Amino acid sequence: MLSVDTPLSIQVHPSKDQARQLHAKDPKNFPDSNHKPEVVVALSEFEVLSGFKEISAIIHTIGLFPELRLLLGQEKSKEFQQLLDGDRSGLHKILERFYATDAATLQRIVAMTHDRLERFPTDEKAHKLFLYLVSRGFEADPGVFVALFLEHQVLKPGEAMFTPDRVLHAYLKGDAIECMANSDNVVRAGLTPKHQDIAVLLEVVDWSGAAKSCFYPVSSKSGPTTVVTPAAEFSLQIYHDIDGSLGRLGPLGAPELLVLLEGSARTSHNERMEIGDGFFIPADSSGDSINCTDAMIVRVSIPH
Ligand SMILES: [Zn+2]
Repeated sequence: MLSVDTPLSIQVHPSKDQARQLHAKDPKNFPDSNHKPEVVVALSEFEVLSGFKEISAIIHTIGLFPELRLLLGQEKSKEFQQLLDGDRSGLHKILERFYATDAATLQRIVAMTHDRLERFPTDEKAHKLFLYLVSRGFEADPGVFVALFLEHQVLKPGEAMFTPDRVLHAYLKGDAIECMANSDNVVRAGLTPKHQDIAVLLEVVDWSGAAKSCFYPVSSKSGPTTVVTPAAEFSLQIYHDIDGSLGRLGPLGAPELLVLLEGSARTSHNERMEIGDGFFIPADSSGDSINCTDAMIVRVSIPH
């Protein structure tokens, strides 16, 4: 369960191949040889950053922040021209430049931008995001500028987002339930005081934009919303306003987990569930279930 007040770091997770190599080379910082696809289901309005914007939108955003020219170089930089020409390798180089900027310069440019936007407020979403990130204490963090290059979305309660390997993402505000593959590999990309390995970051990110997040609306039909992600490790179902029994009729050969988010429920072991409690059904169970009243349940299982 995530309850986000201060944004969680912008990050990316390596692919399986990358994770294997990173773990072999640096097991301290990459404790797993597994990848870490993840899905979030919003419990309140949930603000996220995920994946790069289209190049035209990035060019538009750069235009909203003239101070970025101080980071990109006074002359019309080669990287920017590459972007204008639709060449995505410019993106890689621009972000590399953000990360190479020393903290004092970064702080000066962030302060300059912040002062301008305080004096001349606008309704631009990117301006508001920038002010929000600075207000959360990231005054000298390259993440405040990297964030502007990413898709900024607000999920409604019940909506879900899946983030595949190699896609930059961050959770900015709100409550959500998160499910991921069994891995701890995180490559940080800003909005954090923690250590960042920029060389690995630049290598892990998918700069082509081919890897994309998937979004899942709340089902309009009655019955559960099923979030079938491309991940082989998990699938989710979200039950709204459910009354009656939910669980296992016979052995499935795979475990599952039922989490109570609203309403009330009792397990087949006659335990009362509190909001936020999970009920784990082992792979070999043939009869475990929960009895729900006006409940919202997230059920996580392994696709088969
Ligand atoms: Zn993540």
